[in-house]
Amino acid sequence: MNAPVVIVGTGLAGYNLAREFRKLDGETPLLLITADDGRSYSKPMLSTGFGKNKDADGLSMAEPGAMAEQLKAEVRTHTRISGIDPGHKRLWIGEEAVIYRDLILAWGAETVRVTIEGDAADAVFPINDLEDYARFRAAAAGKRRVLLLGAGLIGCEFANDLILGGYEVQLVAPCEQVMPTLLHPAAAAAVQAGLESLGARFHLGPVLNRLQRVADGLEAHLSDGQVIPCDVVVSAIGLRPRIDLAAAAGLQVNRGVVVDRHLKTSHANIYALGDCAEVDGLNLLYVMPLMSCARALAQTLAGNPATVSYGPMPITVKTPVCPLVVSPPPRGTEGVWTVEGQGADIKVLCRDSAGKLLGYALTGAAVMEKLALNKELPALLA
Ligand SMILES: Cc1cc2nc3c(=O)[nH]c(=O)nc-3n(C[C@H](O)[C@H](O)[C@H](O)COP(=O)(O)OP(=O)(O)OC[C@H]3O[C@@H](n4cnc5c(N)ncnc54)[C@H](O)[C@@H]3O)c2cc1C
Repeated sequence: MNAPVVIVGTGLAGYNLAREFRKLDGETPLLLITADDGRSYSKPMLSTGFGKNKDADGLSMAEPGAMAEQLKAEVRTHTRISGIDPGHKRLWIGEEAVIYRDLILAWGAETVRVTIEGDAADAVFPINDLEDYARFRAAAAGKRRVLLLGAGLIGCEFANDLILGGYEVQLVAPCEQVMPTLLHPAAAAAVQAGLESLGARFHLGPVLNRLQRVADGLEAHLSDGQVIPCDVVVSAIGLRPRIDLAAAAGLQVNRGVVVDRHLKTSHANIYALGDCAEVDGLNLLYVMPLMSCARALAQTLAGNPATVSYGPMPITVKTPVCPLVVSPPPRGTEGVWTVEGQGADIKVLCRDSAGKLLGYALTGAAVMEKLALNKELPALLA
C-alpha cells in the first residue's frame, strides 16, 4: 500500500483539513492520529455548554468511527505521537514506526500550567478539550463556587457561562484588566462591568499560591493574602503551541512550529496548521485562520501547490452579558486609539496617521457596527 497522508490531531484543524482534502482526493490513504478520544466537536462551544444546556456528550458532534467512514480514513484514538524522524519519513508511537507520504502537524496548543502549593492541586481543572470538559463537569456537579484562574478571552467566556449555569464565580489574574493582550482598556472595563453585574467577582493583581482542602470545600490563598473559599478551580491562564516534538525532530520552531505560506515546515513533506503553527510569523489561536489554512493545504496535498492568505479576522467573544467583537491592529502597525460611547456600549477605533482603520473593539450595542467596519479593516496576511 502507498504510504498514507498522516494528520496528527483531530481538532478543528485536523478534521477540517481531512474534509477539504477528501473533496479533492478520494483515494490516497489517510490516517488521523489523536491523543484524545477522537470525537468531532467544536472547541469554541466548550465555553457555551451551560448557556446551551449541553454537557460534554451533548457537545460531541460525531464519534471517531463515523468520522473515519465519512473521511474514508483510519482514525487512531488515544494514541500519542512520541517522535518524528523526518529523514526516514516516519513517526513514532512509542516503539511503533508509522511511515508517511506527507505528515501534517495539527496537534494544537497546551494549557499553561503553574505550580500551586497545598493539598488540593488536583482540584484545578484546565479545559482545553472535550475530555477536559467532561472531567470538569463531573467535578463541578452539585458544587456551587468556582474560582477561575485567568481573565483572558477564555476565562471571561467561562465566567459568563458558569454564571448562566448557576455557579458563583470569582476570577483571579495577575493583570490589571480583562483580556490584557487583546483589548483596549475602555472595552475591557465594559466587559468586566457586565460580568460583575451578573455577580462575578474579580481579583486582578494577585495570583493563586496555595489551594487547601477544608471541611466544606477548598480554600484558595492568593499572593496578596486574601483567602477565597471555593469548591472547584478552573485554570484558563493561557495556551502555548505544542512545539517540543517538532523541535526534537530538528524542525524550526519559534512561538509555534514555523511554516511558510504553503504551511510547509523547515522539512520536506511535513506541514503544520492550527493552534500549533506559526504561519509566516503569525500564530493565531482562532478558527478562521485555521479554516483558511485547511483549504490551502488541502490543495497543496492534492498536487496543486497553494499559499494561504488571511483577510481581516475579527474575533467574536462569547460573553453574552456584554457582547464584544475585537479586531486587534495587524503586527507592525502604529495607530492612534479613539474611544466613543459609555457604559456597556463602547466603540474604540485604531486609525493610522492617514485615517485608515487598523483595528477596533466594539461592546454592547456598538457591536452592530462591525459589518460596516470590517469592510475597512486591513488584511492580516495579504
Ligand atoms: C474555551 C475555548 C473557546 C474558544 N472560543 C473560540 C471562538 O469563539 N472563536 C475562535 O475562533 N476560536 C476559539 N477558540 C480557539 C479555537 O477553539 C482553537 O483555535 C481551535 O479549536 C484549535 O484547533 P486545533 O485543531 O489547532 O487544536 P486542538 O483542537 O487543540 O486539537 C489538537 C489535537 O492534537 C492532538 N494531539 C496533541 N498532541 C498529540 C500527540 N503528541 N499525538 C497525537 N495527538 C496529539 C489532540 O489530542 C487533539 O486531537 C476557543 C478555545 C477555547 C479553549
